[in-house]
Amino acid sequence: MKAVYSPLHARHDGGMELHRGELVPCFEMPSRADYIRDAVTAAGHGLTAPRDFGLAPILALHDAGLVEFLRSAFDQWKAVGKDGFMLPSGFAARSMRQDVIPPGVNGKLGYYAFDAGTPIVEGTWDAAYASAQCALTAAALVAEGERAAYALCRPPGHHAAKAAYGGYCFLNNAALAAQYLRDQGRATVAVLDVDYHHGNGTQDIFYDRADVLTVSVHGTPETEYPFFRGFADETGTGAGVGFNRNFPLPRGTDWDSYRGVLDTALRVVADFKPDALVIALGVDTYENDPISAFKLKAEHYPLIGAAIARLGLPTVFTQEGGYAVAEIGTNVAAVLTGFEQGQ
Ligand SMILES: [Zn+2]
Repeated sequence: MKAVYSPLHARHDGGMELHRGELVPCFEMPSRADYIRDAVTAAGHGLTAPRDFGLAPILALHDAGLVEFLRSAFDQWKAVGKDGFMLPSGFAARSMRQDVIPPGVNGKLGYYAFDAGTPIVEGTWDAAYASAQCALTAAALVAEGERAAYALCRPPGHHAAKAAYGGYCFLNNAALAAQYLRDQGRATVAVLDVDYHHGNGTQDIFYDRADVLTVSVHGTPETEYPFFRGFADETGTGAGVGFNRNFPLPRGTDWDSYRGVLDTALRVVADFKPDALVIALGVDTYENDPISAFKLKAEHYPLIGAAIARLGLPTVFTQEGGYAVAEIGTNVAAVLTGFEQGQ
């Protein structure tokens, strides 16, 4: 399948993140995309550049204030004499006002971010915008008749909510792909998130809608990021009730435990009878991932791809997490190859 890739991802190189109480070098680093690009190319998936769909599809899903902040954040940072990377130091948490957007850049950081692990640097907007265009292009390829396409999105997107960013994510690439397919006449679309972390942003964007089913299999928020979303009792609201399903799993989950839950999640997707599918593809379920705690091995990624293929749906893959940098490419390529061989 075609792999949509932009070198502009490299403009986002975050510096340091606050991770479980420690300020550490960013796990989400440019070399991730280099390893993936090389591995998917070696596996025979030809690279293609993204088209430019502009801001309209982004503004259709994301709050205009968030988008404007992301576009202008680093200029605001420089205007107060700062440089390097931007992290928030105060949040609009419980007891704080939610109805006031602070005029200053430090206040805005805490208003729009939901963690201190997602630094913004000078090139972040360029990279996030290009990543979104990669997802939209992969969706366009599928809308135009390809059975499947892969978007090598970096930065990732599945944590980015309507009006908040975090979890290394700024714009929700999987949601953009799903909405694009809807706009191109697919009456129903399912998003299946197999990243180690709950796809809270995608859930948030489609939470009140019945036309886009969101399903996520992930490490339990009882102990795992993003901590405040991803529980099994989050099933949707309003017209969307019943169209969100979460499958939280404990730390240490291995393939024998994982595959049955994946099968259940795939059955939920099949029962919805969608016209198209988006896979939020994280490979941080891998046993050697430095920030995750599942125990999947390299040999299991082709099986995941083949299981997805058996749904028989037009499928867009968007790249999400995976931080065992040296192995991330081969694990991603294994999913794509498993999908093609499992068709
Ligand atoms: Zn993840």
